[in-house]
Amino acid sequence: MSQKGKYVYKILVMGDTGVGKTSLVLRATRGKFPDPETLMSTIGAFFALKRIIMEDGSLCSLQIWDFAGQERFRSFMKNLFRGANGGLFVYDVTDPITLDDLERFWIPTVFEQIDEYEKPIFFVVGNKIDLENRLVNPSEAIKLARKYGMNYIEVSSKTGENVELLFYLMAENVHKRYKRRIV
Ligand code: GDP
Ligand code: MG
Repeated sequence: MSQKGKYVYKILVMGDTGVGKTSLVLRATRGKFPDPETLMSTIGAFFALKRIIMEDGSLCSLQIWDFAGQERFRSFMKNLFRGANGGLFVYDVTDPITLDDLERFWIPTVFEQIDEYEKPIFFVVGNKIDLENRLVNPSEAIKLARKYGMNYIEVSSKTGENVELLFYLMAENVHKRYKRRIV
């Protein structure tokens, strides 16, 4: 088998506490929805690896960084944003405040830390679409994504709907944009 190269990309996962960031990362990297009873509130940050084989045969490892949403960790987290190739701004489709907080806090905080020329690939991600009590109209979230030149997708970390697709699209996009920079 021919070796087409290996690439590592850094992907940030951001959004308020409770939107399902840790569940999304664990669904993507371990293939199952974690038992809510055992989900501890993430302290600081951790990362998990997701390996994806691209159409050109390259192996992309996404280093997916899961951040805690607590205000008290936010100032120290900022340093960890640097060098990101991609980012997910996650909100909960049943909680409009979590969408507002993306524009109020998460997007400006990340943009402050990232050099303009780096141009990471960003997605706005609506999570928990398995729930009946959706309160956010997708058109509002799409409007936000467009405003900042981001992609938009809706997922369920619980059922797994669109989760593989999301990370495949992310890998494809970052790989296209960054691969020439990596020797
Ligand atoms: P985080 O604080 O953003 O990391 O969120 P967690 O992953 O800890 O999830 C917060 C709560 O939302 C937990 O009770 C999860 O089980 C639940 N949750 C996460 N994703 C989903 C989802 O897609 N659907 C449903 N119904 N619940 C979810
Ligand atoms: Mg968490």
